[in-house]
Amino acid sequence: MLDVLVIGGGNAALCAALMAKERGASVRLLESSPKEWRGGNSMHTRNLRCMHDAPQDVLVDAYTEEEFWQDLLKVTGGLTNEHLARIAIRASSTCRPWMVKHGVRFQPSLSGALHTARTNAFFMGGGKALVNAYFRSAEALGIQIEYNAEVTRIEVESGEFKAAHVKHKNALGELVREERIQAKTCVMACGGFESNIDWLREAWGQNEWGEYPVDNFLIRGTRFNQGVLIKNLQDDHHADMIGDPTQAHMVAIDARAPLYDGGICTRIDCVSLGIVVNTQAKRFYDEGEDFWPKRYAIWGRLVALQPGQRAYSIIDSKAIGRFMPPVFPGTKADTLEELAQKIGLDVQTFMQTVNDYNQAVRPGNFDHTVLDDCATQGVTPVKSHWARKIDTGPYFAYAVQPGVTFTYLGLKTDDRARVYFNSKPSRNLFVAGEMMAGNVLGKGYTAGVGMTIGTAFGRIAGDQAASAALAPESGVNPNENIEHLAAH
Ligand SMILES: Cc1cc2nc3c(=O)[nH]c(=O)nc-3n(C[C@H](O)[C@H](O)[C@H](O)COP(=O)(O)OP(=O)(O)OC[C@H]3O[C@@H](n4cnc5c(N)ncnc54)[C@H](O)[C@@H]3O)c2cc1C
Repeated sequence: MLDVLVIGGGNAALCAALMAKERGASVRLLESSPKEWRGGNSMHTRNLRCMHDAPQDVLVDAYTEEEFWQDLLKVTGGLTNEHLARIAIRASSTCRPWMVKHGVRFQPSLSGALHTARTNAFFMGGGKALVNAYFRSAEALGIQIEYNAEVTRIEVESGEFKAAHVKHKNALGELVREERIQAKTCVMACGGFESNIDWLREAWGQNEWGEYPVDNFLIRGTRFNQGVLIKNLQDDHHADMIGDPTQAHMVAIDARAPLYDGGICTRIDCVSLGIVVNTQAKRFYDEGEDFWPKRYAIWGRLVALQPGQRAYSIIDSKAIGRFMPPVFPGTKADTLEELAQKIGLDVQTFMQTVNDYNQAVRPGNFDHTVLDDCATQGVTPVKSHWARKIDTGPYFAYAVQPGVTFTYLGLKTDDRARVYFNSKPSRNLFVAGEMMAGNVLGKGYTAGVGMTIGTAFGRIAGDQAASAALAPESGVNPNENIEHLAAH
């Protein structure tokens, strides 16, 4: 019988598959997408957040375990599991040589990449190159990979994985055959449910204006993360779950982005350099609360809570050249009145909002690389940093809508990546990546931590699945220290 069945074809699944294979297990990996769309959300990524006590290859200065942990604590508001979070943090300081061994290449962060030279290691060629490297390595090691293979449900008996039911499809997405696959152990790493619009709509419901906010959501990544197994585990197997279905990593993205797979180029990164107004031409949140990498992921939700789920990031020409320009140009106008007209906002209210803000701006030394002293006084909401008057034409506006990156509802797990049923860990069912990220990320986000969690727990899940498959009588070796992974 097959040793390890890995479900999914993104970063976490590939890390699990490679680790299990390295441990000597036979491994089969099922990816629901066609080959050309393989790699899930991982193909859209650019970097991995890494702790380091001193400069390390592409990373400058130091980013200690404690600082990483404090950052995580802050963005999650305490909705995190410290033990699991620290495992992921520590693993991030040692995983890169293993990644390099499997073909991943790193590069220093480029200018304009959101204050990340110290904290984040960038993948050369981005996430697409990373998943391609892992797939190449997996093929070379003899891992059996199948595309167009969607797992529709798994069989679990008394907390033990028995088999997975798979639909094999052709290139047109038509059903070719169905299969029941048995394996000694299974790693589920098939993403969140962010691509499932119906489920998101059900979770978010209607707002106070009678709108279904989800109707204006865009999905930044793959269309294949439908949450089929999250639902199966939750509803049919009553697995222990973690997280709130409305919690997700959500970014304010270009309203012109496609429904799926717009990727990072749809992000609008000038929020902290100007103001943001809703469709009623009013500001609604502190645009300069903190560095953009620590805040960009709250703006999707903030916009989702506005009427019409749309907002406008407004800047003047002083901001140009200070942020990564989006793919599509913004709406440009020589005067603020003309700008308001062009984007369809009430001109009088818009001018009042900009004037109130401009009058509240206090003198300071503008420095976008630090939390500077340019703040407003006497206007609500305050702008805490980088507040400069919007007074130098031409002016630009970018319409934004909520862009869902990934959802946080997932399976409860532990430091061995085991799935839990009735508070008891499964002997042979493991989970990694977005499917369990909610254990570490109850809410909020800090750039690069998705890949940190996926890499750490993908490797742990693969390692543990192989151990359980190869030594079934003893199950997972209780003496084995997770930290040994650092040595690989
Ligand atoms: C635009 C964008 C940019 C991002 N940038 C970064 C970044 O720079 N750094 C960072 O840390 N994080 C980033 N993230 C988040 C990051 O992508 C995720 O945290 C990470 O990729 C999750 O990896 P995963 O393997 O769990 O899921 P995924 O990579 O999404 O992989 C899940 C896989 O499972 C497959 N699948 C789904 N259902 C089934 C099924 N039923 N049967 C079989 N296969 C199935 C899917 O096809 C997919 O290939 C970004 C996300 C997006 C969308």
